[in-house]
Amino acid sequence: MKNKKFILTHAALSFLLCAAALSTFIVILSAKVSESGRHPSVTSIPVYSGQNDAAEELGNLQTESKPADSVALMFSSEQVSGDDLRCLQAKSVKWFLTFKSDARISVTAAKPVSQLYFQFEVPSRWTLTLPDGTVRQSNENGFIHEYVDLGQSVSEFTVDVAEGAVFTGLFGFTEGETPDWVQKWLPPCETADLLVLPTHSDDEFLWFGGALPYYAGELGYDVQVVYMTNHYNNSFREHERLNALWHVGVRHYPVVCEKFTDWFATKKYEWAVEKFGYENVLEFQVETLRRFHPRVVLAQDVNGEYGHGAHILNTQTLLEALKLTNDPAAYPDSAEKYGICSVQKCYVHLWEENQIVVKWEDFKLSQFNNKSAMRMADEGYAENKSQYIYYNVPSNGQYDCRKFGLAFTTVGNDTPGKNDMFEHIDRSEQARVYPSSISDENDVSGTDIPLLEPETVENSKRFPFAGIIVISLSGAIVLLLIFLAILLRNRSRRKNRVTGNETNH
Ligand SMILES: [Zn+2]
Repeated sequence: MKNKKFILTHAALSFLLCAAALSTFIVILSAKVSESGRHPSVTSIPVYSGQNDAAEELGNLQTESKPADSVALMFSSEQVSGDDLRCLQAKSVKWFLTFKSDARISVTAAKPVSQLYFQFEVPSRWTLTLPDGTVRQSNENGFIHEYVDLGQSVSEFTVDVAEGAVFTGLFGFTEGETPDWVQKWLPPCETADLLVLPTHSDDEFLWFGGALPYYAGELGYDVQVVYMTNHYNNSFREHERLNALWHVGVRHYPVVCEKFTDWFATKKYEWAVEKFGYENVLEFQVETLRRFHPRVVLAQDVNGEYGHGAHILNTQTLLEALKLTNDPAAYPDSAEKYGICSVQKCYVHLWEENQIVVKWEDFKLSQFNNKSAMRMADEGYAENKSQYIYYNVPSNGQYDCRKFGLAFTTVGNDTPGKNDMFEHIDRSEQARVYPSSISDENDVSGTDIPLLEPETVENSKRFPFAGIIVISLSGAIVLLLIFLAILLRNRSRRKNRVTGNETNH
């Protein structure tokens, strides 16, 4: 009888443990599916006016206002099975096809197409051949969302895909205006009015607020976004970042550092330095500044916002790089490749000296139906669907996305109260100067940065499933302890009964 009771208890607790483990698995799986099952963003593409620099370049890509029809494409290949090729028709980026060797795909369209849209999981190489022998090749910048105007209507064509390519979709359209989710990226800027330096996808909205919708989307300045880390280990975030930037009117394709993959274990500064290497990041910063010759640079809090190590490393190396860009002896390879330059201004989020407060909520943007720059920052952030549930864009308080300090200037200090990042900046091409040496005025103040201890609560949010796993594991441990307690109690009772020492107190 006792043995039976023990077995029953054991069985019940085992069942509970299994149920806890199973529910953890289901919760994680459903979260993954809901993230990866998202569609390319359906956004309203702002219509640019004549004064918009990016719009003039984009003008070549604009088609007439008649909506294009989406056309069914049929794929066949000797190297890849038909079943595998079917995922190319799915809009969702959760399906992808990895090419383990070079392959040729023959494509037949249900009716003539003149526009194609490729989606890749990683930058991939391809060659398109049209029936008249015209050949088109993949963008050298490695776009993962790539629009191709064929310049003619065709009913069939071939795509030669290089080994290692990873496709998530290939879509065809008739002549006319493609749907809003088709993104038509311009190459990265030759030179940038504003260089924005987030560390991860979503930092550009969380900490810089309305800067991108205002300067890129509304004013049409040449804005280049360069991320210190890639998300190739969570590739849905690569798609999210493009959807977000596109939504707020950024048209120059972002640069993502290939060398530094985002990693949970970079939340502490020491870990970030160990993982990425201070020198490596410094070299990357100098090269980035020289590549884009920016007039104004926008960087994250040097204390890491909430103490994140990779954020700290990003801005600390930037502050040092600003002093090296016009020294040809410093990192001579990038000096040779891009020339030397001198940045005119650098604003750092939450920097305490020479502060400005840019009230993004007061900037009404005509390119976005008069929504405010702050509202567009929220919308851009919301495109980061995997992160959106963990944060909000902070428009006040400790992490206020409106507060910046002028940490570096070669054009003098700002007028107090003016709150204009482009004060004293002449955007004309003639005004761009490349001094051969750094003058004493180029002062970077406060580069001895006190480091903050990371806030573990905030950091744990960087990993979306950490909370779920911790809770589930805690539950499993509690159940296990209860099970052990009952087991010990049963044994103790049996022992007491055998020795006749059972007591009643
Ligand atoms: Zn970040």
